[in-house]
Amino acid sequence: MSGTFVIVGAGLSGGAAAAALREEGFDGRVVLIGAEPQPPYERPPLSKEYLRGEVPFEQALVQDPRFYAENGIETRFGVPATCVDSVEKIIELDDGERVIYDGLLIATGGRNRRPSIPGMDLEGVYGLRTVANCDRIRQEIVPGRRAVVVGMGFIGSEVAASLRQSGLEVVVVDRNKMPLRRVLGDEVGRVIEEIHRDNGTTMVFEDTVAAFEGDGHVERVRTTRGRDIECDFVVVGLGIEPVIGLLAGTGVKLDNGVVVDEHCWTGVDGIYAAGDVANYYHPVFRRRIRVEHWQNALKQGPVAARNMLGKSEAYAEVPWFWSDQYEYNLQYAGFHTEWDELVVRGSLRERDFIAFYRKNGRVLAAVTIGRGRDLRRSMPLIKAQRPVDPGKLQDPEVELRTLVGAADAR
Ligand SMILES: Cc1cc2nc3c(=O)[nH]c(=O)nc-3n(C[C@H](O)[C@H](O)[C@H](O)COP(=O)(O)OP(=O)(O)OC[C@H]3O[C@@H](n4cnc5c(N)ncnc54)[C@H](O)[C@@H]3O)c2cc1C
Repeated sequence: MSGTFVIVGAGLSGGAAAAALREEGFDGRVVLIGAEPQPPYERPPLSKEYLRGEVPFEQALVQDPRFYAENGIETRFGVPATCVDSVEKIIELDDGERVIYDGLLIATGGRNRRPSIPGMDLEGVYGLRTVANCDRIRQEIVPGRRAVVVGMGFIGSEVAASLRQSGLEVVVVDRNKMPLRRVLGDEVGRVIEEIHRDNGTTMVFEDTVAAFEGDGHVERVRTTRGRDIECDFVVVGLGIEPVIGLLAGTGVKLDNGVVVDEHCWTGVDGIYAAGDVANYYHPVFRRRIRVEHWQNALKQGPVAARNMLGKSEAYAEVPWFWSDQYEYNLQYAGFHTEWDELVVRGSLRERDFIAFYRKNGRVLAAVTIGRGRDLRRSMPLIKAQRPVDPGKLQDPEVELRTLVGAADAR
């Protein structure tokens, strides 16, 4: 197959899609456009080993930088795409270049939410999405200094842990009553809270930032409930929003990201989306979901690429992610927004468990600390979406693998 396939967004999803086009034997033109100057790299180390200065940036690269030229992939790194004409099938770049495409993959990911808080523009108030952000934060890391982390979602929790591990004093401010409550619920949230407390993080819950104050550079955080927290710098981790502006006026439906079907197709001729930006129909959960995790970017980009080449592959991966905080590795599989019951196998108190989010008798998702193998064995269970007996879920003597297909809920 020939023609020109353009990928906008040179992150993990876009980079993996470009490689997949070549792996599939596509010998037409592939153009990979990225707003950041670096070739595609993985972001997880930015809140972990790379932030702590333990590994070089090169280890985070998705491919050796020579890979693109060697595989005939044209790159435009450091040049954002600015406009798409979906009728003439032309994409325009910031430097004036226009590329006529046959297929277009939108893999523009997310950008950090920036709430309008007074003082947000002060020096020393950072977000964390890119390696450039991370390098600036790294310059602030000096043992004994004090950092405030705003938001205790996954990024905030990981950054807090890495800063503590680097010898800083850390104060976290979060509007909820414990970390990760919205995603993981009270019982698991409390486990995470205890981990951070044991490691000396000061946590301020049920409070929000009213203002960042300082003379040019941030010096303190003032909270809505009247606290003044002196600090040397701040990392704000309040989630991301999908980057969709490029598609305005193209006829592509935009709603919490780029709306696509299970084949990553937007419904507009030639235009597909994958990764953090894609709000896709998931055939297992029978609803639209948008997943902001590494595995999804890695696997969905190539599925979109193959479908651009004329295949008809549904993307039905069970979402999976991990988070490293101190010595603990947390993993999650599935997708849930609400649940009737949390069934725990193992011990929350001992931080050695797998917990299942169950709704209407079905396991929607599972989370673990220390039991990655059990989590992998739970994936077919989640995929099957059949009722499961909670007693068997809880019983360590029952092999999780044997529960797949067991329509035996009470
Ligand atoms: C600090 C950090 C830690 C993380 N840790 C974990 C983890 O432990 N586990 C996990 O599962 N996930 C983790 N994630 C999430 C994971 O990194 C993301 O899900 C993944 O990066 C998504 O990849 P993507 O390619 O879809 O989007 P992105 O990584 O956001 O890449 C999109 C790219 O598109 C570019 N772009 C945007 N607009 C344009 C334009 N108009 N023109 C050209 N280029 C454009 C952007 O500059 C960006 O480079 C972490 C994320 C961060 C930020």
